[in-house]
Amino acid sequence: MALVNKVLVIGGGIGGMCAAIQCAKQGIAVDLVEISPEWTVYGAGITVSGPTLRALRSVGVVDEVVRRGGHWSAIDICNADGVVLNTVPMAHAVGADELPPAGGIMRPVLADILSQATRATGVQVRLGLSFAQINQDADGVDVVFTDGSQGRYDLVIGADGVNSKVREALFPGAPAPRFSGQGSWRCVVPRTRRNSTIFMGATTKAGLNPVSDTESYLFVLDHRDNFDFIPAAQWPALLAELLQEFGGDLAGIRQGLLDGNSYSIVYRPLMGLMMDAPWHRGRVVLLGDAVHATTPHLASGAGIAVEGAVVLAEELVRCQFLEGALRAYAGRRYDRARLVVSSSMRMGEIEQTGGSKEEHTRVMLNAMTTLSAPI
Ligand SMILES: Cc1cc2nc3c(=O)[nH]c(=O)nc-3n(C[C@H](O)[C@H](O)[C@H](O)COP(=O)(O)OP(=O)(O)OC[C@H]3O[C@@H](n4cnc5c(N)ncnc54)[C@H](O)[C@@H]3O)c2cc1C
Repeated sequence: MALVNKVLVIGGGIGGMCAAIQCAKQGIAVDLVEISPEWTVYGAGITVSGPTLRALRSVGVVDEVVRRGGHWSAIDICNADGVVLNTVPMAHAVGADELPPAGGIMRPVLADILSQATRATGVQVRLGLSFAQINQDADGVDVVFTDGSQGRYDLVIGADGVNSKVREALFPGAPAPRFSGQGSWRCVVPRTRRNSTIFMGATTKAGLNPVSDTESYLFVLDHRDNFDFIPAAQWPALLAELLQEFGGDLAGIRQGLLDGNSYSIVYRPLMGLMMDAPWHRGRVVLLGDAVHATTPHLASGAGIAVEGAVVLAEELVRCQFLEGALRAYAGRRYDRARLVVSSSMRMGEIEQTGGSKEEHTRVMLNAMTTLSAPI
């Protein structure tokens, strides 16, 4: 039996939905509030690593993710013209031999799968809503919502992303997210490759990961001097400029951009955040990007959010006291999350300074090997 009867999850992203599902499966009554009135998610692709697929198996949605997404079992390393120089086979995550070694999916498709599972487990979802006040005593947490309604909970989970207002309100000494010096470009293109594909340009690295049988997403990281939100109207021309050094598939995409095809481009300046433990104050605990946000170099940010949700729900059943459960949750998660955040940051630094390719590979392989081990 769980230590808590009634939980509020603030934030209906990947981490929040998985936390809500896992708590509801333990018999806990769960309310979830999400600030977006339509629960909308931007239309980019996301890579779902082997360990992430394994965590989504625990949540009970992996079959749908594999069915509606794309997957691969090797990475083709290509020159700038798309000629394959080396094919690197990928290992399955430990204990997940029946799953693909890696996959990708459109974010709105993943959100659809998770939101259906959230509602199906009995979670009460309220959209277009956030908290206005959180006050806690020894026995519970009183929450006033932005529509004036109120609720009392045994536990509040702040899963409201990298710019978390829960973190801001409850953890005044917490570090602010830090700009990494890179920006991320993603767009959706027809699938032309079976495997995940990396294109090594002279100054830029780009990649194509399948997100379904028919589509892939293109990702490009570039160095940026400032944390600037570039107006969307400029995105096609800027991405076309970045792709200038490539031939083959990427030259075709570049031509499409110049011809007016937007390919649903999304640009984001990248941020990182790693908060020291404890990750809770009394009966309020943080989860996912709210407590550890990473740049996408290891494609594992969502994965560690899902793993966090699985572990938090496990500890709420395993432990005798709430304080112990919340400490055990952060204790089991801290090193793994820190590995992802710091390795990803280091890979970004190496890319920006033109540093050692060997170190870049070593940092990546070390993190991937560690993440493959079960949580
Ligand atoms: C460019 C880029 C590429 C990435 N690629 C990958 C990848 O390939 N693979 C991978 O595993 N990870 C990737 N990540 C990381 C991944 O996107 C995040 O780690 C993941 O989305 C974290 O989930 P979350 O639920 O913690 O936060 P979020 O996804 O940010 O969700 C937070 C939710 O809370 C809601 N919210 C915000 N404020 C409030 C509030 N005050 N009240 C109520 N609700 C609120 C938001 O609307 C949102 O729905 C990438 C990240 C970036 C920036």
